[in-house]
Amino acid sequence: MNLYNIKHPEEQVNFAQAVRQGLGKDQGLFFPQIIPTLENIDELLALPLVERSQKILGAIIGDEIPTDKLNAMVKNAFTFPAPVEKVEEGVYALELFHGPTLAFKDFGGRFMAQALAAVRGDGKITILTATSGDTGAAVAHAFYGLENIDVVILYPKGKISPLQEKLFCTLGGNIRTVAINADFDACQALVKQAFDDAELRQAIGLNSANSINISRLLAQICYYFEAAAQLSPAERQNLVVSVPSGNFGNLTAGLIAKTLGLPIKRFIASTNANDTVPRYLKSGEWSPNATVATLSNAMDVSRPNNWPRVEALFKRNGWALSELGAGALTDVETEDALKVQYAKGYLCEPHGAIAYQVLKDQLQAGETGLFLCTAHPAKFKESVERILNIELPLPEALDKHNKLPLLSDEMDADFAQLRAYLLK
Ligand SMILES: *Cc1c(COP(=O)(O)O)cnc(C)c1O
Repeated sequence: MNLYNIKHPEEQVNFAQAVRQGLGKDQGLFFPQIIPTLENIDELLALPLVERSQKILGAIIGDEIPTDKLNAMVKNAFTFPAPVEKVEEGVYALELFHGPTLAFKDFGGRFMAQALAAVRGDGKITILTATSGDTGAAVAHAFYGLENIDVVILYPKGKISPLQEKLFCTLGGNIRTVAINADFDACQALVKQAFDDAELRQAIGLNSANSINISRLLAQICYYFEAAAQLSPAERQNLVVSVPSGNFGNLTAGLIAKTLGLPIKRFIASTNANDTVPRYLKSGEWSPNATVATLSNAMDVSRPNNWPRVEALFKRNGWALSELGAGALTDVETEDALKVQYAKGYLCEPHGAIAYQVLKDQLQAGETGLFLCTAHPAKFKESVERILNIELPLPEALDKHNKLPLLSDEMDADFAQLRAYLLK
């Protein structure tokens, strides 16, 4: 598999290099030079998730990774289902939250961990990352138990929810978590200092497991096929997919699935008040506002970092950007959407509720609608309980960790101390 840097097309790498490096020169994103066309879509759709995903990823990555090895990576990563649930006539939910941290990032995170373990070479690897909550959990669970990969996660002490903390600070083993006596920005600054320290970087094989890593996107392609596989051939004919979008990685993966040949009529990018893309598609002007806090906080992004990949795909395929649907909801509208879904017998959370409502606003007669549910309702327990006036029991995956003791170390925001800790 060959990839190029979107900012500097002359910089070309293979899959292993792209996975190890994460980003190219000038923070440029890597993107596949060629996306194949899959011939036998109906046969693929008839296969079970793991087997089908092995074939899809094998076709994209090619012979750089031996088939047996790739098949094992996919099998180890995709250990949970992605069911489609009917919400009303012609409108379906794709539930992506049945993984260990109850969010769709488990798909990308787990496959990236497998990919990094497969292409790492001989040296030691230390994953260092700062989290304000959810990414830490996904990274910790994805890398937990992998040999010769140490993970260190920094988070602001007392500034993430107790439940979030329990989810990733109770694992132990190769996962070390550090509660920093400062805010999230200070944690990020410490991580940046560590990456700027060439000697340290070399000594412990620092890697960021960056969210922009191409391996994450490749994994996410597979659940679009899984969704289509659960619909009838008639419903697949005029399928419209609404994606709750923050950094637009999820949408990019869907567009790659369509490029591969999956019959999706069109996509809708659904956002909250951080609506840079919906405004851009209307006006042609790229003018990000300051980021505002919303109920759907995983989408509080006003400069989506995957957007260059989206534009590259439209250009390459000769698609007009005007074919991309888009819509944005306020928090009040999000609450209303959640209530409407609940009245129809479907319990959702703010991100999925936005994708649902924007889909409903734009779906035309004769089309089948699918919206992506990116997190389990219990991950947004406080909001969901308040808006719907209900009590949400903790799902077993969360409850299990909630009962375990915290294993975090504590530290001031002091780089010398962190450096010594990392070298220990
Ligand atoms: C990360 C995240 C999103 C946004 O996904 P992108 O790929 O960044 O667009 C949406 N919902 C939830 C729950 C998330 O965690």
